Amino acid sequence: MPEGDTLRRLATRIDDRFGGDVVTRCEMRDPRLALVDLSGRRLVGADAYGKHLFVRFDDGRSLHAHLRMSGSFEVGRPSREPTWKRRAELWLTNGRLTAVDVPVLDVLDTDDEHTVTDRLGPDLCAPDGAPDPDEIAVRLVADPEAPLTGALLDQHRVAGFGNIYVNDVPFIVGVSPFQPVGAIDGLSGLVAIGVALIRTNAERGPQNTTGRRLGTDARWVHGAGRRPCPVCGGRLRYQAERETPWGRSITWCPDCQRSGDRVTADLERARRLIALHPATKQAIFPRR
Ligand SMILES: [Zn+2]
Repeated sequence: MPEGDTLRRLATRIDDRFGGDVVTRCEMRDPRLALVDLSGRRLVGADAYGKHLFVRFDDGRSLHAHLRMSGSFEVGRPSREPTWKRRAELWLTNGRLTAVDVPVLDVLDTDDEHTVTDRLGPDLCAPDGAPDPDEIAVRLVADPEAPLTGALLDQHRVAGFGNIYVNDVPFIVGVSPFQPVGAIDGLSGLVAIGVALIRTNAERGPQNTTGRRLGTDARWVHGAGRRPCPVCGGRLRYQAERETPWGRSITWCPDCQRSGDRVTADLERARRLIALHPATKQAIFPRR
């Protein structure tokens, strides 16, 4: 699922493969881009901010994309997707760059990229260093009644978390996804664990939240369906996206994840659950 880590890795792949390449042919099949022609332009680099991708060209323009739930980019080889799904396709010296089913795609001046990013919170996967968990916690509690998972998903507060991390981080620290953010003690530590996880996965690959089977995208509760809780063996609960206040599905363990007047993020539980995850080696990971 495209989250901040996916986008950071995608930008790096595009940058590594095509940085400095000239576009020899350009097919824009998205009607909003029908009049755009990038052929002859040099691709100078790619960057991501939160879940937004920017591919920059030497004429001062950027191709901006947001993948939402299902969009993707194919980097290098010609795409095998049907033509109508290939909304934008660029032929470059080192291969082909194809936007497949990308729902948000537009071209803007590189100098105007800030009009997209100004309204977003700090970028979780910023290449120049991790954002400050204390600052993120302050942004989250600006709406103290917001449920934890809804607040973490709100890109205006913090940019990059998607459904995987907003299911699994509350599970890891034993806090209900419905707990109001203003009634959580240790919120900075909770945030720091999420930051460490997503930044580690941005560097190394699969969206693994468990630290087990590290080459896979093993997760605690995201996508667990009706399986028992992996920690206490109790019954997991699930709500579909139409049922939650934040409009995305959620899986949680009512026995492991506490709610109430005030609850504390259980950092000791987190240290045990993800003891094997390389995220624990990040400087930002909360120490005892
Ligand atoms: Zn449980």
